[in-house]
Amino acid sequence: MEGIIIKGVGGLYTVKVGKEHYVCKVRGKFRYTKVTPMVGDRVSIILEENDEGVIEKIHERTTELIRPVVANVNQALVFFTIKHPDLNHNLLYKFLLLCEYNNLDIVVCFNKMDLVGEEDNSTIIKILRDVGYEVIEVAAKEGVNIDAIRGKIENNISVFCGPSGVGKSTTLNSIANRKLMETGEISDRSKRGKHTTRHSELIEYGNGLIVDTPGFSSLDLSFMDVDEVKECFPDFHIEENCKFSNCNHYKEPGCAVKKAVESGEINKERYEFYIYTLEELINGRKKKW
Ligand code: GDP
Ligand code: ZN
Repeated sequence: MEGIIIKGVGGLYTVKVGKEHYVCKVRGKFRYTKVTPMVGDRVSIILEENDEGVIEKIHERTTELIRPVVANVNQALVFFTIKHPDLNHNLLYKFLLLCEYNNLDIVVCFNKMDLVGEEDNSTIIKILRDVGYEVIEVAAKEGVNIDAIRGKIENNISVFCGPSGVGKSTTLNSIANRKLMETGEISDRSKRGKHTTRHSELIEYGNGLIVDTPGFSSLDLSFMDVDEVKECFPDFHIEENCKFSNCNHYKEPGCAVKKAVESGEINKERYEFYIYTLEELINGRKKKW
């Protein structure tokens, strides 16, 4: 049988096969190989006489997140607010960059839209839609557009990400119609967060799975190669070519991206964030956002 690991504790893995769950062990041989099963892994299992499941094979992973450790996540719901807390554009771009780096499909969700007047929200939403991102405006507390998010979750493995206090837990609970995550004010949540380490699980919602802890809690980018960063900006993938095929759109002459920034085709703020990130990597300096 083939299934997906939705939970792993102390060497026992819960494998979901259709609607059934089987608690499985791992065959001895895995202990001597480098591959350890991860939550999210697609696996082949067999049932032994006593109905105990055994994981026989781990299928190749499409993606592998490190924080939290989950395989095969294909979609990120990036949560931010325009107000309460106020939007920090660069922080949002940093989350998007990390999601792109991990090959995740991205849906940007602006929550607490009940607190935002129409005039305040147009700029960032336009910037993101011009890049090609899907944006959903949510008011989780009032149930606004929760169905749109439910629709996104169907048939995907999703991770919620974004800074704390933006309403990820509230949204998740409201999607599931039950309390899956603790919600609260920023201060008491971060206090609690410090002394709780736990394993991630996948929560089932219809045909979809959701990682039960937020993704990208660390926003350190220093592991990235300078040459990789530009690949994480879909807005830079324009038709016109730069003079040098390996152009980093930085100080090179004949750069089509820089030209597109000047003409307004590519958003200047996005480009400035890109250059900031590049220089941060080049100079090896770290800045807290
Ligand atoms: P998380 O840290 O991202 O999981 O955020 P929480 O879900 O814990 O929410 C942080 C705070 O924002 C809580 O006090 C929520 O009640 C509040 N909140 C969540 N969604 C909304 C919303 O749609 N509108 C308003 N006004 N407040 C919200
Ligand atoms: Zn260029």
